[in-house]
Amino acid sequence: MADGSTILIVLESHEGTLRNTAFESFAAGRELAEATGGELVALAIGSGISDAAGELGSYGADRVLVADAPELSAITVDGYSAVIDKAIEQVSPGVILTAGTTAGRDVLSFLAGRHELAHLPDCTQLRVDGSELLARRPVYGNKMMTEVRSSLDKCVLATLHTGAFKAPEPDSSKSAPVESLDVSFADGDIRVTITGLESSAGQAADLTSADIVVIGGRGLGSEENYKLVQDLAEALGGAAGATRAVTDLGWRPHYEQVGQTGQKIAPKLYLGVGVSGAVQHTVGMVGSENITAINRDSAAPIFKMADFGLVGDLEEIVPKLIERIKAKKGS
Ligand SMILES: Cc1cc2nc3c(=O)[nH]c(=O)nc-3n(C[C@H](O)[C@H](O)[C@H](O)COP(=O)(O)OP(=O)(O)OC[C@H]3O[C@@H](n4cnc5c(N)ncnc54)[C@H](O)[C@@H]3O)c2cc1C
Repeated sequence: MADGSTILIVLESHEGTLRNTAFESFAAGRELAEATGGELVALAIGSGISDAAGELGSYGADRVLVADAPELSAITVDGYSAVIDKAIEQVSPGVILTAGTTAGRDVLSFLAGRHELAHLPDCTQLRVDGSELLARRPVYGNKMMTEVRSSLDKCVLATLHTGAFKAPEPDSSKSAPVESLDVSFADGDIRVTITGLESSAGQAADLTSADIVVIGGRGLGSEENYKLVQDLAEALGGAAGATRAVTDLGWRPHYEQVGQTGQKIAPKLYLGVGVSGAVQHTVGMVGSENITAINRDSAAPIFKMADFGLVGDLEEIVPKLIERIKAKKGS
């Protein structure tokens, strides 16, 4: 095994807040650390995140490293990889894990290329098997699982499938020492400048971090009817998204699309409205804790995976549902 048994988890942040998906790494990291008998080191990266990093012991880290610098306010491959390199020097990890976000995948594949290390993307399970790291991950649009192994002679990098690992609840009786990594950047070190982040107008919340997501499908019948999805999401305090049929029709922008060629979500509640449940869509939401669907066709494939199903016309059901939710919240 590389120098060691240490498991390093890299936590991404956005505007001074650690991203929800980052906390899922604790579950996978803790299990591996138990297996190797090593430490679980959490590396928090961002700007203005030192206070949040102080809490990470309660999620199960044995040791916390924090890289807090204005240059890290936006996620760049150069910035993040420079910080991870410093952490590698400091703790010589045997495995580095991060959430499988777009940025997480970018950064770890860049580091894997630079250091000629193995990178296991999109892992749903990870286990130490003798001197190897064994990972399972979905392939062919989630239709099959594949098992891959990598020798732990050298450090192995892995990104985690969103929703495959459950973030632990914080335990305030636990704490961990926090060390600051000395990071400074010269002009030109970060070759890409993020000139601005535009929040998507009308998007209630980040789909990947929302606890409740309502998805509108082609069954809505018209662009105007998407308002039903937005109103339902608002009543539930969640985010609204769409299937590809809806984005292809131009009813909603592409960034709201969930599925194989869209965002991968794993909310506590997924609610599909007029969604058939095509595999290219379900691959992006299969990790949801509770799946509920409204569809007038009782044979729609989405009902095969749904925990709850409402068979009927969405134009009748959704307004009633919104009314009931509002009444319940009001009381
Ligand atoms: C390479 C590739 C990548 C793809 N990537 C994605 C992706 O990332 N995300 C994605 O979503 N799709 C993706 N697709 C498309 C996918 O195959 C499906 O076509 C799409 O998901 C279907 O969207 P839908 O469920 O909204 O529409 P439909 O399949 O048309 O389903 C509409 C549903 O609404 C129901 N309905 C109709 N009227 C009502 C009503 N009044 N009340 C209640 N129910 C009603 C119908 O019974 C039906 O089940 C991809 C396809 C390909 C080939």
